[in-house]
Amino acid sequence: MFSNIFTIRHFQQSCKVLIVGGGSGGCTMAAKLAKYGHNVIVLEPNDMHYYQPLFTLIGGGMKTLAQACRPTKAVLPKRTIWIQDKVLNFHPECNKVTTFRGDTINYDFMLVAIGLQLKYDKILGLKEGLKDKNSGICTNYSSEYVEKTYKVIQNFNEGNAIFTFPNTPVKCPGAPQKIVYIFEDFLQKKGIRDKANVIYKTSTPAIFGVKKYANRLEYICETRNIIVDLRQNLIKIDSKKKEATFELLDQQNKTITTEYSLLHVTPPMAPPDVLIKSILGNENGYLDVDPYTLRHKVYNNIFGIGDCTSCPTSKTLAAVAAQSKIVLKNMINTMNGKELIDKYDGYTSCPLITGYNKCILAEFNYKLEPLETFPIDQGNELRSMFKMKNNILPFVYWNLMVNGYWNGPKSIRKILHLGLEKKI
Ligand SMILES: Cc1cc2nc3c(=O)[nH]c(=O)nc-3n(C[C@H](O)[C@H](O)[C@H](O)COP(=O)(O)OP(=O)(O)OC[C@H]3O[C@@H](n4cnc5c(N)ncnc54)[C@H](O)[C@@H]3O)c2cc1C
Repeated sequence: MFSNIFTIRHFQQSCKVLIVGGGSGGCTMAAKLAKYGHNVIVLEPNDMHYYQPLFTLIGGGMKTLAQACRPTKAVLPKRTIWIQDKVLNFHPECNKVTTFRGDTINYDFMLVAIGLQLKYDKILGLKEGLKDKNSGICTNYSSEYVEKTYKVIQNFNEGNAIFTFPNTPVKCPGAPQKIVYIFEDFLQKKGIRDKANVIYKTSTPAIFGVKKYANRLEYICETRNIIVDLRQNLIKIDSKKKEATFELLDQQNKTITTEYSLLHVTPPMAPPDVLIKSILGNENGYLDVDPYTLRHKVYNNIFGIGDCTSCPTSKTLAAVAAQSKIVLKNMINTMNGKELIDKYDGYTSCPLITGYNKCILAEFNYKLEPLETFPIDQGNELRSMFKMKNNILPFVYWNLMVNGYWNGPKSIRKILHLGLEKKI
């Protein structure tokens, strides 16, 4: 009798381009595509948009969270339609998605930009430890907890300070160690460096993937007495005893438990579940795109950008900027039935902050070859690069990138290197 009162209405919408995810990649592409006058829908659940590269500086007490975020509404271009919802299921065979609220969105072309999910649950005791104000456990990796890091750093008096890198791909693989150098510099300035063992425990087989920068970072760790333990993966935290347990990845079934006063955790990461369960994902759940054209390997009307894609490069905002130009050109060419000529070379960049005023600006491509913008040795710790990270890059992001005007530094690099560019 009352059934009609409780009937929930589900909506159907249609668009030329559906952008799933309105983070850095989604927003950038929305701005670019809107300039072409296409009917664009952006599906993004969060009402706050974050410039995550600032999180490292927030952890070091150099910036505030307010400086790293803006309302999604203010960042997305006015000419696009924002639907505040999440994709529940992809249906690429009939060009539609369904959402958590039960709506259906039909599209001609789709861009997937849903980033990575943080898997706190993979480490026993982590979530509880992060929530507890006095645990000494922190992470720069989430807007929810990043403000805790500097408090934990300020409260540190003595003992082991441990920083981790998990056994999965992560966004900005340099960030787990940037906070190590900032912390070490903090202790020097406070005059209590001799009271601490600063330890970086990483699952990776080397401190950094590119030899040139790895050599410099190893030297820095040696001279600043930072202990680096390779192939160790955090699996368990006992925050009452203040002990962290690591599996030794090169020795079967072996673990090591270490006491800590401060524990900075980079959580394991994975593509969002919606992608893992979808036929759009590869065997590891990443959107299965051609690494050069960024078009889906099976569905020609689907493209990807950023952290959720299978591109074998370091997952950074710098990579997103470089990819955005290629994705735009290739999407437009697909719409016009043309061939895809433009190729992404894997460009990515990591400003490796090594203290409160210095930075090594790592830039490289798929082949792990340095691809430096400036005609100086960026492998050195430079004040100028720190200033760029601290002041110029946030300006570029909020004023150029999310408005669709920034494609990374390739053209600047070309000019500064007198037009001599490596071809892929
Ligand atoms: C601590 C830290 C430091 C960093 N430092 C740097 C740096 O120095 N330099 C650099 O270049 N990069 C850095 N990065 C990495 C950079 O922030 C990311 O690579 C970049 O944000 C990736 O953009 P994206 O669009 O792929 O993902 P995101 O910006 O994370 O956006 C993904 C969006 O998808 C949405 N979403 C998720 N699931 C769904 C769904 N089912 N339906 C719809 N929407 C969904 C999310 O709400 C989110 O808004 C750092 C990151 C962190 C965390």
